[in-house]
Amino acid sequence: ASMRDAKIEKTKTVCTYCGVGCSFDVWTQGREILKVEPQAEAPANGISTCVKGKFGWDYVNSDERLKKPLIREGDRFREAEWDEAYKLIAEKLTGIKESHGSDAMSFISSSKTTNEESYLMQKLGRSVFGTNNIDNCSRYCQTPATMGLFRTVGHGGDSGSITDIQQAELVLVIGSNTAESHPVLATRVKSAQKLHGQKLIVSDLRRHEMADRSDVFIQPKQGSDLVWLSAVTKYIVDNGLHDDSFLNDRVNGLQEYVDSLDKFTMAYAAEKTSISEDELKKVAHMIAEADTVCSLWAMGVTQHSGGSDTSTAISNLMLITGNYGKPGAGTYPLRGHNNVQGASDFGSMPNKYPGYEDVTDDDVRKRYEEAWGTPLSSEIGLNNHQMVDEIHKGNLKAMYLKGEDMGIVDSNINYVHEAFEKLDFFVVQDIFLSKTAEFADVVLPASPSLEKEGTFTNTERRIQRLYQVMDPLADSKPDWKIITELANELGAGWNYEHPSEVMHEAAGLAPLFAGVHYDRLEGYNSQQWPVEADGTDTPLLFEKEFPFPDKKARLYPVDWTEPLEYDAQYDLHVNNGRLLEHFHEGNMTYKAEGITSKTPSTFLEVSPELAEERGLEDGTLVRLTSPYGSAKVQCIVTDRVKGNELYLPMNDNGEGAINQLTSSQADKDTDTPAYKEVSAKMEILKRT
Ligand code: SF4
Repeated sequence: ASMRDAKIEKTKTVCTYCGVGCSFDVWTQGREILKVEPQAEAPANGISTCVKGKFGWDYVNSDERLKKPLIREGDRFREAEWDEAYKLIAEKLTGIKESHGSDAMSFISSSKTTNEESYLMQKLGRSVFGTNNIDNCSRYCQTPATMGLFRTVGHGGDSGSITDIQQAELVLVIGSNTAESHPVLATRVKSAQKLHGQKLIVSDLRRHEMADRSDVFIQPKQGSDLVWLSAVTKYIVDNGLHDDSFLNDRVNGLQEYVDSLDKFTMAYAAEKTSISEDELKKVAHMIAEADTVCSLWAMGVTQHSGGSDTSTAISNLMLITGNYGKPGAGTYPLRGHNNVQGASDFGSMPNKYPGYEDVTDDDVRKRYEEAWGTPLSSEIGLNNHQMVDEIHKGNLKAMYLKGEDMGIVDSNINYVHEAFEKLDFFVVQDIFLSKTAEFADVVLPASPSLEKEGTFTNTERRIQRLYQVMDPLADSKPDWKIITELANELGAGWNYEHPSEVMHEAAGLAPLFAGVHYDRLEGYNSQQWPVEADGTDTPLLFEKEFPFPDKKARLYPVDWTEPLEYDAQYDLHVNNGRLLEHFHEGNMTYKAEGITSKTPSTFLEVSPELAEERGLEDGTLVRLTSPYGSAKVQCIVTDRVKGNELYLPMNDNGEGAINQLTSSQADKDTDTPAYKEVSAKMEILKRT
């Protein structure tokens, strides 16, 4: 039937952009998307969405969608049938495993694909190939936040729900451009300011919209958040403003932690951060005196050499002030991708099985060995960052990557591209021929969220179902189906007919998801982990206990890692982050015409002072050069940034500008790239 004869249908789905996890109905006629209609019962967003959720769907019908498997022949790709592609992949991967061993293989899952698909990716790597070399892109963003929370409170997720953020007396936002990156969540804060006088403190290098709306805005020197957080915490303790009974009853390690704060005096902090002592004292009093505080943070904290430590310091401050385990309080690392939470939750990590159980724990491993009927590796695998190094060293020979444009989003991309070229065999599964896919030996055409069933987990730990809206385009297939068919080509004998069967297997194995079941997730129903076997879920964590053997939280001492310094010739600091209209590398939003015409390509924000000094105007074309590469970009002059601070949005139309400049420097505890520690020099190419 032609498109016009097709029935008009309405199907519930979950947004595939950010981690707020808006859900809504999509009205379609055949493949045509008529409208997106949010519903009051949607748990994260109600009747709201942002521009991306509402209008960002053109990519689904883009001419650039991959329609058939592609096999490399010399410099080009030729189209192939699935059978041929599967046979070739199975033969090559088996050969590499036989000659170089299991740990010559690596697997990368995607934070855009479903929980079930991340579960299957790690199952493939672990059970079919015998390696824990598996990771996902939370390594590029929020792994340091997860680390900070594991150290202190034991669960790597938001403490509560978006409604808690809404009802907090005070919200503290650090290194998060919330209004542009998590728009619907930001509107909750904006309305809480009006409805109940919620107070807002923002710490950022850049005066963005939330900064404009804040009661107190502090602009610390780049990479110095840990210093002011520690000084504020010390001041609170020294002045007896801490929550004594909470600390006595529920927290370990107070004395040792307080001792570790010795050097973080107000004077030291003022010197290192450039925030005045008075301003810091004001922040300390506001935090200590509010009954309920929610701390929100994102990449401005995590993408630094000390990203895990700063995340830890935030959690320490919330413990000191008793801001855990009660409504309207807690820590909220804001997850970027729609399913970055779920990709880690469901075991696409080199050290964790689904539900964050250690691969080194014998009892846990035995449980998986029995269920999967095969011996498993007890060695912690390689993370993304280590994989690139190991390819360069010749130890890692093959990679199977899905839905991740590592060749644009990783830092120091020239080094990453050289690694891809060194691989003996590289399989990329995506909906487009991404930059990364250009390096592949075989490219497999996957289906985006509207063409499949499954679940996503948003920043609130909320698991939500998506229903299939339309058939897969051409010969593309959902990722879960591709992984299953490939595993079976390798003799695995899996018989999943529907993603629900995958979820039920995961729920049976991982205690964190014990009671997760598709029947309980029908329609707009959702479950927030941990979920007990009887289906009871946990909107608010830590109400009674922390998940440590003695049920108490732990204050965890951390020290400051000063951000990397370059020599004087790289005299400008290049901050980077998101735009409202575009999403990450932009491979989806740049295919939405309405969005692209409004925000066509990237630009560089420069301060009025710098513009004056260098003679820059709106539209001046400059070249930025770091020790790792260079990028051409047009300037706009704005007082959102000050002094030698530049801001370069990370979304650009396919050039990967920011990661031409970034180094391989990384968070010392998690290997998350220190994207925010970029210094560069500037050369003017063309004046307006
Ligand atoms: Fe999608 Fe995030 Fe926008 Fe909601 S706020 S519609 S989840 S991009």
